Amino acid sequence: MVDRLKEIVEGFLSTKSRLTFLTGAGISAESNIPTFRGPEGYWKVGSNNYHPQEMATYRMFQQRPEEVWTWYLYRMGICKKALPNSGHLALVAFEQMLGDQFTLITQNVDNLHLLAGNSPERTWQIHGNIFFMRCVSECKERVYPLPFEIDGKNKGDHFTEKDRGLLKCPDCSGPVRPHVLWFDESYNENYYRLYSSLKAARETGLLVVAGTSGATNLPNQIVNEVFRNLKPIIDINIEQSPFFVPAVKSGGLFLEQKSTVGLEILLEKFRALL
Ligand SMILES: [Zn+2]
Repeated sequence: MVDRLKEIVEGFLSTKSRLTFLTGAGISAESNIPTFRGPEGYWKVGSNNYHPQEMATYRMFQQRPEEVWTWYLYRMGICKKALPNSGHLALVAFEQMLGDQFTLITQNVDNLHLLAGNSPERTWQIHGNIFFMRCVSECKERVYPLPFEIDGKNKGDHFTEKDRGLLKCPDCSGPVRPHVLWFDESYNENYYRLYSSLKAARETGLLVVAGTSGATNLPNQIVNEVFRNLKPIIDINIEQSPFFVPAVKSGGLFLEQKSTVGLEILLEKFRALL
């Protein structure tokens, strides 16, 4: 298997094409950020316990904006305490090594790739970033950092008068929402780099998928696009996912590893062959 990895990396290096990474919750889990699709994501509103797939919707935000904000501030508080791990740092090393040949597409909203040192220009956060907000009425098509006075919440905390005063659009003073893609919303280019990601997939000479099981639509499209172009896919995951078959059939491989370990193995291989 190690020799196969060498062949794949040599093949890629001879093409001088794009190396695209697609990362998901697995890499964040190693920094102690829960997936929020599991039990950690449940949220009590009154006597009801809501599932993350109900909380993370525009529908819920319309009905209970302050509850949805409180839940996001709870999650933001957890992300704020987390530190990048060696997998994140390996991706910074890849960007330094490859420059414009490098693209990082991430489903994670926790900001850890940027905190580790990957550049915003080459890091596309296709599900948004929990430390940012945007105007509900989109008076301007832009995102704003959360005000620094905003604190993370604990379970059981409530939305306060202070939160109410701070969470306003800096341009029109209207209501704001978290800058994240909700389950009942669609990808677009302006906020989520939809077309850029698909273009990157078409230009990719090697795709590396780390810590994601392909439960969402755009990651699937990216993998399919690379597969159709007959380019190899390396899938790093602790268990087989729907990306196992395209990885193996594309002439790539499945690395049954944690993201940190798999990315470090790959980085060593690149360093040895460059
Ligand atoms: Zn506004």
